[in-house]
Amino acid sequence: MSRFKFVCGCGKRLAAYDWMIGQVVTCPKCGTTQTVPTPFQAEEKLAEMMERGYSVTRRKIGIPVDQAARKKQVVILLAVAAAVVLLLVAAVVLFYSFIK
Ligand SMILES: [Zn+2]
Repeated sequence: MSRFKFVCGCGKRLAAYDWMIGQVVTCPKCGTTQTVPTPFQAEEKLAEMMERGYSVTRRKIGIPVDQAARKKQVVILLAVAAAVVLLLVAAVVLFYSFIK
């Protein structure tokens, strides 16, 4: 009997044995029930998720890569906005200190 892994819709990797193929199991993370696929189907699904841009690590499937990139862009935008505000404040402070 061989052990293999398949991926839940929530991204959790679940371990299964070949005798479990076709049985309904519950995901310990999200609680949805699903049928254990064959190792071949599991590989196919993993490849499909990677093709759709999911970041696949050894332990779990992450959020789609483009979403992660968008999050990074927002962080950079916020950092730039904060830097601009700081510069403006510094400019105002300098301006008033020169007037006195
Ligand atoms: Zn799940």
